[in-house]
Amino acid sequence: MKDERFTKKVKKRKYKKKSKPASIYFLLWASFAVLSLLIVLVFSFTQSIALDQTYREEGAKEITVKGRAIEAILRSEPPEEFGGNHSGFVRYLAQSNGVDIFIIADNGDVLYPREENFDPNAPEVDDFYDMSTELDLLKRHLQGVNEDYVVYEGVGEFVYGSVLSIDNANTYLYISRSLDLIETVSVALRVRILFVAMFVFIFAFALSSALSGWLTKPIEEITGKAKLLAKGNFDIDFYGHDYASEMAELAKALNYAKDELSKTDRMQKELIANVSHDFKTPLTMIKAYSSMIKEISGDIPEKREKHAQVIIDEADRLASLVNDMLDLSKIRSGLNELKMSTFDLTSYLYDVLARFEDFVTAQGYSFVLKIDEEIYTQADEVKIGQVLYNLIGNAINYTGEDKKVYVSLRASKDGVARFSVRDTGAGIKKEDISVIWDRYYRSSETHKRPVKGTGLGLSIVKTILEKHNFRFGVESEVGRGSLFYVDFPVRKK
Ligand code: ADP
Repeated sequence: MKDERFTKKVKKRKYKKKSKPASIYFLLWASFAVLSLLIVLVFSFTQSIALDQTYREEGAKEITVKGRAIEAILRSEPPEEFGGNHSGFVRYLAQSNGVDIFIIADNGDVLYPREENFDPNAPEVDDFYDMSTELDLLKRHLQGVNEDYVVYEGVGEFVYGSVLSIDNANTYLYISRSLDLIETVSVALRVRILFVAMFVFIFAFALSSALSGWLTKPIEEITGKAKLLAKGNFDIDFYGHDYASEMAELAKALNYAKDELSKTDRMQKELIANVSHDFKTPLTMIKAYSSMIKEISGDIPEKREKHAQVIIDEADRLASLVNDMLDLSKIRSGLNELKMSTFDLTSYLYDVLARFEDFVTAQGYSFVLKIDEEIYTQADEVKIGQVLYNLIGNAINYTGEDKKVYVSLRASKDGVARFSVRDTGAGIKKEDISVIWDRYYRSSETHKRPVKGTGLGLSIVKTILEKHNFRFGVESEVGRGSLFYVDFPVRKK
């Protein structure tokens, strides 16, 4: 049952493919297209609604002003030069104001202008042009207003109208201006907008192509190089195309990753070489001494004992190598969490020193100690034991001919106790100081070391101390020796 559900789940996941993300090219093009569409929409909206309305408002305003002025002139006496020719005068006013002017009788007959061939100087004729439809509309509009004039939009024209009582009869002033011009302009503008829209679209398309090519080319290049890197080619160089700081950052980060990878790769190769060498020596010894016991010393207890001890020692060496490697990978992967406690660092340091007893009594090494009493600290006791053991072990390994190792633990006033271990050996070259803490690093010089090392010691020290957030470091001078130190926080008992 359970299995069935599991396979179903797996099947589901398998077929639910993630959709492929869109390309930069498409995203850019889509953004530009949407943007241009928006601009065109806003533009045509303002044009067709707001602009049109403005035109109409302005037109109404203009005809009001003109209408008022023309009406005032018509109410006064006509100038002499027209010699009583009202039609001529009206026509003249109409032409000079760019409008049409009609004076209409109550029955819809146009009283003025009324001359032949629209000539202002021609005599008036008795034919009356009929504008009763327009007049009806004007009358209706006049009813609805309090003013003595009215402005409205008639059929395709703006109209100014008012009552002009001439000769005690009801006559009307009808001034109009065609809306044609506004509509023509409006249509012309709409056509222009269409062209602008097309141009913007084409421009957006061209711009997005150019821009995306410019943006994606270096990305494609970097992707290609990253693939090469994945295949183990460390000779490539990512360079930051200067057009954007992000690209420069990306190239910098990738170069850093490449350097780290190549360093790790190199060190891993070295480790394999070192470890196989370190494994091979004890294994050869174990094999040789086992054969010796089998063939020679099996029956001679004294020799057998000695040979068996060699086997045990070599097996121990192998075990410690394997342990170191396991330790490091465990600490690194976080499987081994810190078990913090407050403990007596002074007596703990003495315990660690005691483990080197054999070097002092049998091999002529000597410790020069300057250790304060009863310094308590808070840390993972076992791991700090590894740190002290590795640092002191290294000092024994690398100290000079005098075989002296200086160990001190001193509390300072600022709540810190500094542990330091100094040797009198060859010291560490400046350029090596930063790499000795690296995993797998081991000095290339073949050094006969009294304490067995795996090349992982300082890496374990670094990992443990970084987890604790303790300050630590090394000061070294070539030819004079090295001093490794760790600052522990002092705690109350
Ligand atoms: P190992 O000592 O097993 O080689 P470590 O990780 O403890 O590995 O040290 C790494 C390297 O750092 C050593 O190979 C050595 O070159 C250098 N080193 C460590 N301690 C000292 C020291 N006290 N003096 C000089 N060199 C040292």
